[in-house]
Amino acid sequence: MYLRPFDPWKNPLCTCPFKYTLNVYTGCDHACVYCYITSYIPNAFRVRTKEGLLPKLERELRKFDGRHIVALSYSSDPYPTIEKKLRITRKVLELFRRYDVRCLLLTKSDIFERDLDVLSELRCAVGVTVTTVDKEKAKLLEPNAPLPERRISALKKAYRMGIPVYARIDPIIPYYTWGDFDDTLEALSFVSHITVSTLKLRPDSKKRMFAKFPELMERLWPLYERGERIGGYYYLPKELRFKILREAEKKITGKGITFGSCREGYRSFPSCDGSHLVPP
Ligand code: SF4
Repeated sequence: MYLRPFDPWKNPLCTCPFKYTLNVYTGCDHACVYCYITSYIPNAFRVRTKEGLLPKLERELRKFDGRHIVALSYSSDPYPTIEKKLRITRKVLELFRRYDVRCLLLTKSDIFERDLDVLSELRCAVGVTVTTVDKEKAKLLEPNAPLPERRISALKKAYRMGIPVYARIDPIIPYYTWGDFDDTLEALSFVSHITVSTLKLRPDSKKRMFAKFPELMERLWPLYERGERIGGYYYLPKELRFKILREAEKKITGKGITFGSCREGYRSFPSCDGSHLVPP
């Protein structure tokens, strides 16, 4: 089955409403330093296509309950670089259109701009993740992803076409991207909903962060050592996390944007993931 109920390893802090998820590709070449898929997908930064995806997906969609949402994607990005050439995600969206599937799209690319004609005919919400609007920092954190300004400009086009749009500012990294939060939020102030999440580390992402940002990690890691360990992740200490989340919430809702938090044990309204934006 390619359509699978979303279940982030039964993480006790996940508040997502029931939804399905589809990973069009295996792996993702954006190669984000903090990425967690490397902990369970071998060669995760090498993108592979899936055998017979489109015909199999079509068979699954014939029986699919149209009330449910399909999220694209949580263990990959639906728009890795190769999608420009292969157009598989576009064909998936065309299938969604044919079967009237409700879709929650999330990407760190701007390639979806090409597919706005299809997306505008779907019951969908489109979101981009922007960790920071600072180009240099983004390039270090997400070396192969298109620059944040390109993602935001593509999302603005979606917004102008009347497509519900949201964003994730994720992960928030103290002493690094948290310092740019106001600028990042300002650049995204046209969206309806923003989900935030603080940096959570697994042993492999911790290793990559130390290799790439040794000085930053010298300051950060002692905080994580004092923090919690939840569902296999190192978390910041709860009082610091909640301080960041409270400030982020105040700034976001102050702009008339609804606020969500992801796997934090903190509140979200009306949904953590932006799924309330997908038309029923
Ligand atoms: S875009 Fe997402 S899935 Fe791809 S490398 Fe970055 S964090 Fe991982």
